[in-house]
Amino acid sequence: MSTAAQPVVDPEAIDPYALDREGLEALVAELGQPRYRADQLHAWLVRGVDDPGEMTDLPTGLRERLVARFTPTRPELVAHTVADDRHTHKLLLRFPDGEAIETVLMLYPQRATVCISTQAGCAMGCPFCATGQAGFRRQLTAGEVVRQVVVADAALRSGAIGEQDLPEGAPSRVTNVVFMGMGEPLANLPATLATVRWLHDPDGFNLSARGITVSTVGLVPGITKLAELGLPVTLAVSLHAATDPLRDDLVPVNRQHPLAEVEAAMAAYRRVTNRRVSIEWCLIGDVNDDPEQADNLAAIARRLRAHINVIPMNPTPGVRWKEPSRTRTQAFVERVRRRGAQITLRDTRGRDADAACGQLLAAYTLGAGTRLPAAVGAADRVDAGLALTSLGPQPTEGPAAPDTPGATPDTPAEAT
Ligand code: SF4
Repeated sequence: MSTAAQPVVDPEAIDPYALDREGLEALVAELGQPRYRADQLHAWLVRGVDDPGEMTDLPTGLRERLVARFTPTRPELVAHTVADDRHTHKLLLRFPDGEAIETVLMLYPQRATVCISTQAGCAMGCPFCATGQAGFRRQLTAGEVVRQVVVADAALRSGAIGEQDLPEGAPSRVTNVVFMGMGEPLANLPATLATVRWLHDPDGFNLSARGITVSTVGLVPGITKLAELGLPVTLAVSLHAATDPLRDDLVPVNRQHPLAEVEAAMAAYRRVTNRRVSIEWCLIGDVNDDPEQADNLAAIARRLRAHINVIPMNPTPGVRWKEPSRTRTQAFVERVRRRGAQITLRDTRGRDADAACGQLLAAYTLGAGTRLPAAVGAADRVDAGLALTSLGPQPTEGPAAPDTPGATPDTPAEAT
């Protein structure tokens, strides 16, 4: 793996999970050890062991020196909620500085998917998202991002998430990772790229690039950098609106990177990686579920040959918007499909586990953070528009049933 943004050898202390292979090799070289010691260290870290005292195949002297050098950033498990017949596990992890983030483990027959966070909070300010409303607090380090996968994997392998929680045929190891938790992964590019390399490392987690999905609201420079990584990682772009005026409000960063620019970046990503891109669409009742949006979305998806994942909005405390009615959801999906685009209505994993982005954290703490200037006021504008359109009769139906799951990526309710 190449170097990440994290310090390779910090003179004071090191979070071992912030070190990539080259970082570990540099460290053991500095300590006068042969290179294969880095392989041994790496193997322990993959197994979730960060205490050098437990790394029994290392010489005692090296273990003692590593104990002095390592300061693992171990998160504390603050909350653990379950849903979907115990097949969805949502973890609230708090780091030593007090910042807390969410990680979700979703178990399916044949795969175990972890949804990870890349930032504490988020500056993108999408007004329908609990995380966006709380604002940005800080970037996570590569070590803190990798650690979320390690924690979930260790829970599976150790039996902490026991057999009773596993669907038949579910693997006992993490097989897929989606960067769809709190934060915008491409706004924390060094940690995101370092984590992708860590997960893909054949001597590490050895995840297939296709089993890794990076989701973004459309940060074009980041999409270009991700393409330069040279791995066919799945790119999922959260459009949520298919016209610029609506997207300016639903995804405020659209003012910096409007739809045409995002679409061009997605097309380039597909060309470079030869990997189909995904479009994520959080369907919000009476906001982005109308025929005009459906037609524009279908046109974009057809041009990109992209797959659309529709996720009905998860009602979020403090956000007035609602999930779409069953009738409007089905009409939207059918209209897009009739116009020749591939679309899947996703299930909303973890609704009863506070599993929408930021909801579990919001239940524990409400912190003020910063938001992109463009995001400020977006909620008010969309709310004002909604007030006008919601004067008519209100639907009384529940949400639509999902299509059969199958298309990647796995998503815990709405996410980035
Ligand atoms: S939806 Fe994603 S990008 Fe938008 S505010 Fe929430 S976490 Fe940030």
